Formats: sequence, C-alpha cells, structure tokens
Amino acid sequence: MRPVADLLPLALAATPPVEQGEFRPADLVELTSLDPSIRLDIRYATTGNFLGTPLYSQARAFMQRPAAQAVVRVQHALAGEGYGLLVHDAYRPWYVTKIFWDATPADKHEFVADPAEGSRHNRGCAVDLTLYDLKTGRAVEMPSLYDEMSARAYPTYTGGTAEQRRLRDLLRRHMEAEGFTVYEFEWWHFDYRDWKSYAIQNVRFESIR
Ligand SMILES: [Zn+2]
Repeated sequence: MRPVADLLPLALAATPPVEQGEFRPADLVELTSLDPSIRLDIRYATTGNFLGTPLYSQARAFMQRPAAQAVVRVQHALAGEGYGLLVHDAYRPWYVTKIFWDATPADKHEFVADPAEGSRHNRGCAVDLTLYDLKTGRAVEMPSLYDEMSARAYPTYTGGTAEQRRLRDLLRRHMEAEGFTVYEFEWWHFDYRDWKSYAIQNVRFESIR
C-alpha cells in the first residue's frame, strides 16, 4: 500500500468525475444535530481503519437531509427494542475515496469504490452503522467486525451465533422500513433510496455548516 501522506495532496488536487443529469441541491446535515442519542465511532478519523491512519480530520457524520431524517426515525424505532445506532461512516468526501483507491494495490480494488464512479457515501446517501445496547452503552456483537473483508460480513451469512444474526437482522429490518437497502457484501452498509438524486460531493467536513 502507498502511504496516505503522499496521496493526500494528489487527491485534494484531483477533480471528481463530471456527471450528467439533474441533481437535487446538496443539503448535508449532521446526524447528531438531529438526534444526539445517535452515537459515533468514526473509524476513518482514527488509526482504526484498513489504512491504519486517519483520513478525516474530524469525527463527524453527515447525510443528505431526507436520509438523515430516515436514520433518526430508525433510531426512535430501535429505542423501543432497547437499542440505538452507532455510526461508523456516512458522507465521505470524494477525495477520500480517491485516496482509498490509490492506496490499495490493483489486485484488491474490488474492495474499494472506483473514484471514476464515486461511491454512494460520496453522495451523502450511504451510512455504515451498527447497534449499541441502550442499557450498557456498548456496541453489540455482530457476525463480523466492521470493515471485515470476509464472508462473515455478508448480510446472508448463516454462521456466528443466533444472537449475532438476530441483531444483524434487526438492524436490517428497521433500516429497510425507512427506505434503506443493505449492501450484499456488508451487513453494516446501507444506501438510501434517493441516492441517484444527489451528485458526488467533495466538500470537506470542516467546510460544512
Ligand atoms: Zn459503506
């Protein structure tokens, strides 16, 4: 893997792909400003990610407003079952997707989004999240770790414990009820139904108000 420090200036200087079509204006809102009981564990703001170095200078989670409001409704519904949402990643500026791609060897590119296409995270319409237990405040155990590149990460994986699968399926059921679709290789990744309506964004967290 190439060092992120070398790739950052190149990624910041690069330009996102030009997209054709009509898009809604971006309206990125911070999830915790809509509901402070949504908890954050933003791995790309720490060394605890697959590149081993922070990519975000701030541990924050933004989504386009309708998607963010849908996440808040999921948070409320889950509270009745004793759980809350713990968010690992939401809106991701395009230059970060470019760093992921450039840092990853070509034979591992299937695991990262192609910056020529952009990612649904770049559109502010994807979220990576898990559950925390309202009583203990701790993240629950799922069938795999977050960002684990194995079959255990598939939402259809039949291994692990019954309780792990119950919690994974509980998260999925509540997210689907609010218009999200789970990614077939990652139980934690959900796309909001309107993702095609929003263009790729490259604004840094620091510049969102
Ligand atoms: Zn994701």
